[in-house]
Amino acid sequence: RARKRGKKKMEVFDATMHDSAVTTLQLEHELRRAVERREFKVFYQPIVDLKTGRLASFEALIRWPKASGMLVSPNEFIPLAEELGLIVEIGKQVLEMACIQMVTWQRTFPGHQLIPVSVNLSGKQFSQPDLVEEIEGVIGETGLSASHLKLEITETMLMENPESARLMLTRLREKNIKVLMDDFGTGYSSLSYLHRFPCDTLKIDGSFVSRITEEIEGKEIVRIIVMLAHNLGMNVIAECVETAEHLEVLRELNCDLAQGYYFARPLDAEAATELIRTNPTW
Ligand code: C2E
Ligand code: MG
Ligand code: MG
Ligand code: MG
Repeated sequence: RARKRGKKKMEVFDATMHDSAVTTLQLEHELRRAVERREFKVFYQPIVDLKTGRLASFEALIRWPKASGMLVSPNEFIPLAEELGLIVEIGKQVLEMACIQMVTWQRTFPGHQLIPVSVNLSGKQFSQPDLVEEIEGVIGETGLSASHLKLEITETMLMENPESARLMLTRLREKNIKVLMDDFGTGYSSLSYLHRFPCDTLKIDGSFVSRITEEIEGKEIVRIIVMLAHNLGMNVIAECVETAEHLEVLRELNCDLAQGYYFARPLDAEAATELIRTNPTW
């Protein structure tokens, strides 16, 4: 009897493994097709200037729409896209969509100051030797001015190869493309490295922002990050601002910019356009 039970257990195990392998294969197939058919969409989350309360820029966030109407979030497919080597092509599509959107806004709102968009890069994209040429190509094709496009990279990406990262940042800066350091505080970068990276803006990771109203240490950590960034000549964006209290504390701490559900969720292109039109003050 014991042997029989053992055997049954084994079969269950095999079935589960088989299921998850099939699911991964299915996802892989769907992802390749989505890249070919350019099925991805870009959503735009407002970033607000805390001095004026006005819209300062947008962050481009990729979404994968399914036939069911559901939107698949990047955390569910970016890791696989990286593994399959699809991320470079996906990243290029996002860059193109964001640049085309900016040009569209330029035409829709002539005479208005164009709202810049920041695009997230994956590590694989950032270590492409021809990244600068690729970006210049996209910008050239869309007819956008380079100064409106910004890139978001994480400190982890910078620390993987600090020397070549520094070189890449310098080349981007020469082309007038601004770079933001995303998710600051979650990686392992040594603070002594920070001043060596020519980044314009530091984005404080949402996990720190969530703690500013909960514990005194949380607030002090954000205060120090803001001071550090300002001393290095960088602007600071707080991520994941969800409440009026978060906003109040961030203003008190002299944080320059903020984004989060308190202001707006990531919006589709149409809703983002409507937001520019109504030009709200927060
Ligand atoms: P991220 O760059 O740190 O983006 C911020 C994430 O926080 C977004 O999740 C955004 O929707 C979410 N968020 C914004 N405000 C709030 C808030 O108030 N509360 C909470 N809890 N969350 C908030 P999303 O869109 O799911 O993206 C997740 C991550 O996927 C991004 O983190 C980024 O690392 C990556 N990602 C997104 N788009 C792209 C892309 O085009 N290319 C690459 N390589 N990665 C991308
Ligand atoms: Mg980001
Ligand atoms: Mg972030
Ligand atoms: Mg984050």
